[in-house]
Amino acid sequence: MIRAAVLAISGCVALAASAWAAPPDSAEAKTAAREIYAKAVGLDTSIEGKKTPELAAWLAARFKSAGFSDADIHVIPMGETASLVVRLRGNGSGGKPILFLAHMDVVTAHRSDWTRDPFAFIEENGYFYGRGSYDNKSGLAGLAATFVQLKREGFTPKRDLVLVFSGDEETSGVTTKRLLAEHRDLIDGAFAMNSDAGGGALDETTGKPMAYALQTAEKTFASFTLTAHNPGGHSSQPRKENAIYDVVDALTHIRSYVFPVQWNATTLASLKAMGAEDKSALGKAAARFASKPGDAAATKTLTDSPFTVGQIRTTCVPTLLQGGHADNALPQSAVATVNCRIFPGVEIETVQAQLQKLAGPKIDIKTLDEYVSSDASPLRPDVLAAVKTAVEAIHPGTPVTPSMSAGATDGVFYRAAGIPTYGVGEVFIKDSDDFSHGLNERMPVATFYAGLIYWDALIRSIANAS
Ligand SMILES: [Zn+2]
Repeated sequence: MIRAAVLAISGCVALAASAWAAPPDSAEAKTAAREIYAKAVGLDTSIEGKKTPELAAWLAARFKSAGFSDADIHVIPMGETASLVVRLRGNGSGGKPILFLAHMDVVTAHRSDWTRDPFAFIEENGYFYGRGSYDNKSGLAGLAATFVQLKREGFTPKRDLVLVFSGDEETSGVTTKRLLAEHRDLIDGAFAMNSDAGGGALDETTGKPMAYALQTAEKTFASFTLTAHNPGGHSSQPRKENAIYDVVDALTHIRSYVFPVQWNATTLASLKAMGAEDKSALGKAAARFASKPGDAAATKTLTDSPFTVGQIRTTCVPTLLQGGHADNALPQSAVATVNCRIFPGVEIETVQAQLQKLAGPKIDIKTLDEYVSSDASPLRPDVLAAVKTAVEAIHPGTPVTPSMSAGATDGVFYRAAGIPTYGVGEVFIKDSDDFSHGLNERMPVATFYAGLIYWDALIRSIANAS
């Protein structure tokens, strides 16, 4: 009897432990997260596969069974895709909510191009394979699993923590734009933590962690078409006026122009970190610029390198060229496409006006698409401290450095809407393992599971900070 009673009690305790508190490195936590990850990777949520609403609904059911109330789970259909917003309520002693971002959609992938089915979740040779296994379903699954776990154990943050999963980050970004414009009440926050940016680098040969980049800014992406028109005519009767010459003249002026040198707190912090690591001439210039921003010699060295020029200036470069219609006719039009990576805080119109000035009145300049520009997010000590805690939990001693990235994510829309956004992705990876957007995308198994420890530490730390 006694023995039986003891057994019953210990059984009960075991049950309670598994249901309420599974540490992020426990077998239960790993199994639960893997299940979410496998489901997410197994659904074709590309613009072709259209399964993002199915993933949103499946995740919503998960959150519901973990104890989130219907009022705190919102699946918001938008065209052929959807967003998912889930709120973990705080006790009200903190400030405005903190947002946690991921995207459910992926870049298109075709079975015929891949070694394995891109939408089958496959574990092989120490990797998880599948489209989105890196971008961004690892972060998505890690965040979802951590929120489920926190809810199950009854964790109450000081302020609301809000998961926002968008549905078309890889294409038009409409889900995020519309969430911000039409559902601001659901996703308003003091700042956002974005799993789709930031992350750690591993040494290519040793596999040792080198540094963690905390992304605080994204350069604005904008492409412009530069068009020259001309009546054309027979090439046996050439005139001085020629559409191709006009475009070439415009490009020549753009080629010799350099946009003003610029910096912000992130620029200086990342150049300082680079200078500490890299003892080459470039590294020395980075260190000098960090201690003496705008220094002429340092600026020249950084500008001459394709790796650093974008860190201190807006850059614009021609990427496409077309013109004419026959080898024996004067061209009636010529078009060059110029792609710009604009320094945070600079308006797209300002760059367009500068290009127009350089190109002259014969050239008609238009933006190729609708773009959004954003400023850098201020370095928050609480965010930096939480990221350091999380990095320390998986790779002790790794330096955390603020960084600006050249690519764009949903974060640009949040920053433009006045919500500072920090790229705090959990992935530490070698460059040679990064197949995001490419073929045979994969994620080291150990990296995915380390991510659970990272998210748990990050969320608990920031939730209790203020
Ligand atoms: Zn992404």
